[in-house]
Amino acid sequence: MSVNDKINLLDFNRAALETFFVANGEKPFRARQLMQWVHQRGVTDFAQMTDMSKKLREFLQENCRIERPRILTQQRSTDGTRKWLLGVDDSDNAIECVLIPEKTRMTLCVSSQLGCTLNCSFCSTAKQGFNRNLTTAEIIAQLHFAHHGLREEGYDQGVTNVVMMGMGEPLLNFDAVIAAVDMMCDDFGYALSKRRVTISTAGVVPAMEKLEQVTDVALAVSLHAPNDRLRNQLVPLNRKYPIRELMRACRGYVDGYRSRKITFEYVMLEGVNDSLEHARELVGVIGKIPCKLNLIPFNPYPHAIYRCSDAETIDRFRDYTSSKGIVTVTRRARGDDIDAACGQLVGSFQDRSRRSEKYQLSLAQVGGVTVAH
Ligand code: SAH
Repeated sequence: MSVNDKINLLDFNRAALETFFVANGEKPFRARQLMQWVHQRGVTDFAQMTDMSKKLREFLQENCRIERPRILTQQRSTDGTRKWLLGVDDSDNAIECVLIPEKTRMTLCVSSQLGCTLNCSFCSTAKQGFNRNLTTAEIIAQLHFAHHGLREEGYDQGVTNVVMMGMGEPLLNFDAVIAAVDMMCDDFGYALSKRRVTISTAGVVPAMEKLEQVTDVALAVSLHAPNDRLRNQLVPLNRKYPIRELMRACRGYVDGYRSRKITFEYVMLEGVNDSLEHARELVGVIGKIPCKLNLIPFNPYPHAIYRCSDAETIDRFRDYTSSKGIVTVTRRARGDDIDAACGQLVGSFQDRSRRSEKYQLSLAQVGGVTVAH
């Protein structure tokens, strides 16, 4: 049997592993044992899993694999942020994954797709087009790799927080993302509290409604504009699920749960969405939804058509929304010297949507000049 025909056990959350073991004549508790070896101790060699019978270890060796991502490049920012380009299969496909150290936590920013289909006008991942969804194994492998890498370096806690804010739209890869998130929160997996795992979405309304039924991890919504006219331009998905429906889905996610809050993300684009009038409109749109507002200074990349609002404008916006009772924080750009900040993750893959080709063409037409607003 070739390696690729073997079952990649990173694809299975606990429920799926139990089914797998039972189907192979084993007891369900083997799932817990295997998860402890793989996810808690970082062991990927079946021979070392000494609480399993020799026969079972041989069976696993013959039929299964635990595939870790290949590190293609590794960069470290002056602020300590690290970015990896990780090879995910044999066909040169690679994703980016970012680790953000802070005083009390280590946050890993995880990708869910090779590229993205949403084409938000301010995001550089969008310019790369789309290749495919990541598998559960490819999603959880990012955490496995970073967490155990940190432990080997002597960081006892490893990764403490995960944000699904890397490349891609997590809710358009629903099942794989949910299975991976399950493993992140599982006591026999990474045992992260549900408050420390965040799924970020541009607003896939039906999936948000489904999400509410299957998990209660933290939800971030990339809002970026207070009205449909502007949001249609910035986040084209808004044409399908306009703000009114999006807000209804947000309320659905928090209603009936005292501790749930939505994090609204709002990228600050100079002269586009950053005026006091926008702030006023935003306060009206958010209404009474329990939430936190994250203002993200726009992170530039080559040929971007936007600029970041200046610090005073951002402060003025923040002071206004705060004065209206919305907890507002300005997110510090981390890792921007290595292009590891929000919206700067591009990975490397063949674009099946041909969007990158069209983008290159349009750049050629404007002579590659940055169009300032
Ligand atoms: N598709 C999901 C996950 C991507 S998360 C979502 O839209 O939420 C990445 C976050 O960074 C999103 O809030 C996105 O809107 C924001 N972002 C994208 N490009 C950016 C840029 N150039 N500068 C700052 N933030 C950006």
